Amino acid sequence: MEMGTAMRFSALEIIKQGLIGNTGWRPHWRSPQPKSEYDILIIGGGGHGLATAYYLAREHGLSNIAVLEKGYLGGGNVGRNTTIVRANYGMPGNSEFYSHSLKLWEGLEQELNYNAMMSQRGIYNLFHSDGQRDAYARRGNTMITQGDDAELLDRDAVRKRLPYLDHDNARFPVLGALYHGRGGTARHDAVAWGFARSADQRGVDLIQTCEVTGIDIDKGRVTGVQTTRGAIRAKTVGIVVAGRSSQVAAMAGLRLPIESHILQAFVTEGLKPCIDTVVTFGMGHFYISQSDKGGLVFGGDLDFYASYAARGNLPMAEHVMEAGMALMPMIGQARVLRSWGGIMDMTPDGSPIIDKTPIEGLYLNAGWCYGGFKAVPGSGYSFAHLLATGTHHAPAARFRLDRFARGDVIDEEATGSQHNLH
Ligand SMILES: Cc1cc2nc3c(=O)[nH]c(=O)nc-3n(C[C@H](O)[C@H](O)[C@H](O)COP(=O)(O)OP(=O)(O)OC[C@H]3O[C@@H](n4cnc5c(N)ncnc54)[C@H](O)[C@@H]3O)c2cc1C
Repeated sequence: MEMGTAMRFSALEIIKQGLIGNTGWRPHWRSPQPKSEYDILIIGGGGHGLATAYYLAREHGLSNIAVLEKGYLGGGNVGRNTTIVRANYGMPGNSEFYSHSLKLWEGLEQELNYNAMMSQRGIYNLFHSDGQRDAYARRGNTMITQGDDAELLDRDAVRKRLPYLDHDNARFPVLGALYHGRGGTARHDAVAWGFARSADQRGVDLIQTCEVTGIDIDKGRVTGVQTTRGAIRAKTVGIVVAGRSSQVAAMAGLRLPIESHILQAFVTEGLKPCIDTVVTFGMGHFYISQSDKGGLVFGGDLDFYASYAARGNLPMAEHVMEAGMALMPMIGQARVLRSWGGIMDMTPDGSPIIDKTPIEGLYLNAGWCYGGFKAVPGSGYSFAHLLATGTHHAPAARFRLDRFARGDVIDEEATGSQHNLH
């Protein structure tokens, strides 16, 4: 496929292709050979790397860019998450950033001309104690102040809307919920593909099976990278590798305040529609939604030990199942089809990093913990702004690398400086 000749998806195109036996569809993106030099290199072809490349091209008119991906596009966390999109953060720094990101989500499918199955089906954060209700009331007020939607529901309202929960559980009685109607889900890999296709259409080279093995630095300035497909020169390089952030940054001699931990998720066999929203049970560490294919998609907490294995272990699987049974006993009727894990780039305060590094021309986008899917458009937008202009984009301006040294942390969960507790 030549650049600029990509087909547009439309109902008419589907009818046309149907008439010719679907023989006219073209690949979503090219597979170019890497050039010896680019203006900008993005290391990592996950959601954040692809979105960064797209916004660099769309917002800043730059196209001499390559995304270097060691595996295949979307094979990392962007294709492994439980697809929840929301803007219900409470801390200054996070609040305005996720608010901006959700606004970008709302126009994304039209903008990318790609069906990402964005579904604003609403999110219920359940509460089970007076203290938790107070915390959610405060959070809801912050969300409203930020311009987002929030509604504090009492026990009866939740009982009416979510009749399948065990509302009278002796240990976790459901007292109410914070409802965020604009939150929901999106099909994760379609988001990666949509950004990839649109970046490619704007001239970005997407280079798969190209692992970065070294970062070249001369007199404190980045000059390019070493890869399994040869050396590539560039004066601007962005590290956007999520769970591998510490390892790739170490290639430039940087030690990041990040630990990598495993987060698992589970999906059941396909069922008839029964859960038409997202429900989170923070007190028991469990959350659930139903995919459009019918599978119940759910998860819980980290496996708690640091690891680079993209799979988890049975104790956390058992814990998540127990929490699910406590919240909605009906789930015991469903058979689990499969489970998987992803490598989470956990920061000490649970908030991300979008910043320059001490090496000139080398930039870092990392620390998304287990909440970076909803951030994909906002992060790509803000990181592209930083790479193109050298200045911080206002909604992401507090995500600085040196905040841990300064003590200016954004600790959303108020769990203190412990990576695996956020
Ligand atoms: C089970 C699970 C559930 C989750 N649920 C949610 C959720 O509901 N909502 C939400 O907002 N977030 C969720 N997340 C978190 C979210 O998925 C991540 O924060 C986000 O996807 C990370 O950014 P990314 O997409 O760029 O990462 P990735 O897709 O992991 O991209 C990084 C890429 O870098 C590549 N790479 C690594 N090293 C190199 C190298 N040396 N050279 C070249 N390329 C390299 C990797 O192969 C990978 O493709 C969840 C994560 C998991 C695992």
